[in-house]
Amino acid sequence: MQNDHKKRKKEKRSVDKAELVAARNALPIAKERDNIIKAIRDARALVIVGETGSGKTTQLPQFLYDAGFAKKGMIAITQPRRVAASSIARRVAQEVGVQLGNEVGYSVRFDDKTSHNTKIKYMTDGMLLRELLGDKLLSKYSVIILDEAHERTLRTDVLFGMVKGIQKVRQDLKIIVMSATLDAERFASYFDGAQTLFIPGRQFPVRVFNAIDRQEDYVDAALVATFQLHVDEPPGDILVFLTGQEEIETIEKLLKEHIHELPPEAMQLLICPLFAAQPAAQQQKVILATNVAETSITISGIRYIVDTGMAKVRAFNPKLGIESLAVVPISKASAMQRLGRAGREAPGCCYRLYTEEGFNSLAQVSEPEILRCNLANVLLTLKAAGVDNLMEFDFLDRPPRASLVRALEHLYALRALNSKGELTPEGRKMAEFPVDPSLAKVLLHSKTLNCTAEVISIISMLSVETVFFSPHDKREAANEAKRNHLTLLNVMRGYQAVKGDKDWCIQNFINARAVKNAMEIRTQLESFCENLGIPPNASSGNEVEPILQCFVQGFFQNLAVLQVDGSYQTFNGKQICHIHPSSVLFGKRMSLILFHELVQTSRQYMRSVSSISLAWLQGTGSHYFTHGQGSEQ
Ligand code: ADP
Ligand code: MG
Repeated sequence: MQNDHKKRKKEKRSVDKAELVAARNALPIAKERDNIIKAIRDARALVIVGETGSGKTTQLPQFLYDAGFAKKGMIAITQPRRVAASSIARRVAQEVGVQLGNEVGYSVRFDDKTSHNTKIKYMTDGMLLRELLGDKLLSKYSVIILDEAHERTLRTDVLFGMVKGIQKVRQDLKIIVMSATLDAERFASYFDGAQTLFIPGRQFPVRVFNAIDRQEDYVDAALVATFQLHVDEPPGDILVFLTGQEEIETIEKLLKEHIHELPPEAMQLLICPLFAAQPAAQQQKVILATNVAETSITISGIRYIVDTGMAKVRAFNPKLGIESLAVVPISKASAMQRLGRAGREAPGCCYRLYTEEGFNSLAQVSEPEILRCNLANVLLTLKAAGVDNLMEFDFLDRPPRASLVRALEHLYALRALNSKGELTPEGRKMAEFPVDPSLAKVLLHSKTLNCTAEVISIISMLSVETVFFSPHDKREAANEAKRNHLTLLNVMRGYQAVKGDKDWCIQNFINARAVKNAMEIRTQLESFCENLGIPPNASSGNEVEPILQCFVQGFFQNLAVLQVDGSYQTFNGKQICHIHPSSVLFGKRMSLILFHELVQTSRQYMRSVSSISLAWLQGTGSHYFTHGQGSEQ
């Protein structure tokens, strides 16, 4: 297995140039090249619709580049997910025949591979939004491509309004909206009746098998389905849609454990998780992915799909003012996209781990993120980018008034905005940090309490997913519940002390890759702090109180109070929630706790919790939230 793996890697590295050219020319979009170029010469905005894999993301920027559109400025292509931006840029650099970071580069949070030579720049929608802070007209760009528009992420949606506004000032700016689904009319009419081009796709038939009964445990069902496909069906790669990295790691372990139960004549099965930190070159037999594989990244060789029917999304309840991560059923549109991934090269087959009735009860399309997210972060960015009247902003879909008001209140409570709704100097600094306003507030406060070094460490660790591996209960990656602010700090300190020693990580069930990632984020945050006049090395030594006090400054809306029955109730929104049973704090009765996020599984769980003292709330915006329920009335 190992050797085979190495061999494959080597093969990937020396991709034949002629082969690449042939593959490019065979893509459906190749035939449309002249039409597209002509259309964008004539128009200022264009909508392009084409099935996943037709070549939109990789080819279109190259067409424009070859046709001279990058002479006066760069071509930006936005992606909702960082893993897509970086891996697609890598592929395109290969196709163009340049080193990544030269003519073709990418820019995602905490990772920039561009140079002054860069002409084609893949970036997350969030990064382009941030660039507005320093360059209100995005004057570096001659073409802005808003890709994956059908996903309707919060940031892409906001970019719609921003680039439309910029185009009123900049006659020369071209805007292209790309979507993998047919609902392009909305986009076209938003840009004053822009032309829509359809790329004819090709799709082989895909047989669908629904579960007969409702599945209690989709992880278990996915495991069974994967083995069944592998044993019963002709050879072909399997793509399994899961909801997140922890789950991917869980199922990866389970698959590996059960692999010896396969009949001896069955082909060898290689298991490859596809997530942010991995290069695309690792994609092989059973690919475990989140919905990044739905439309953003095309993987060749897939004949079989295992669709759990679930996805992890951010949800925000404006009444409660709390954002949480929740695993929820996907939409019909997503289910169709997932199915489609099996029929790209040959007829395929899709196992849906939900019943036909279940499918029929799914929503037609997912709700745009802007209608269900905490808007504080983007509103702060918009304010800092000079959008004064947020209530009047030209949204593609206007978020509920309650969400807008709630977000503005939140920014006010953080003192990012003053009572007139204007950006404060502190708010401007908060906008500069590449983290949520609440975390930015924590960082800013750490200067006052002299514990920036510790706070940076914790924030970096909070930014990565699975930090702890679970030795026993593999199902729930239960060790993750160990996360609390101080534990995370200690892990990073330990890791630094042993200089990332592999054995130390294994002994302590620590995900070395995640902590290494966090270390990189740490370095970046240090330089952001330096630039904003916050000495990044100021340390509180062994004192932990100041650290938690800083977190309270930013997260006064994430407090929960002990109830008589041992459960907790959030300060804000009065929701009942629990400490995870495997948490070190479980069963202890602390009057007041601070949590970093809420995760909804069978119950509402608080993740990353710390015990805090009531006295620390002084001077924070907490009073605002305890009483401040009324504004959405
Ligand atoms: P679209 O954006 O229309 O979904 P893409 O431009 O992403 O299509 O992909 C076009 C084709 O390029 C895919 O079908 C795939 O064959 C190929 N491709 C894209 N990325 C890679 C990669 N990292 N490695 C190999 N092939 C790739
Ligand atoms: Mg694409």
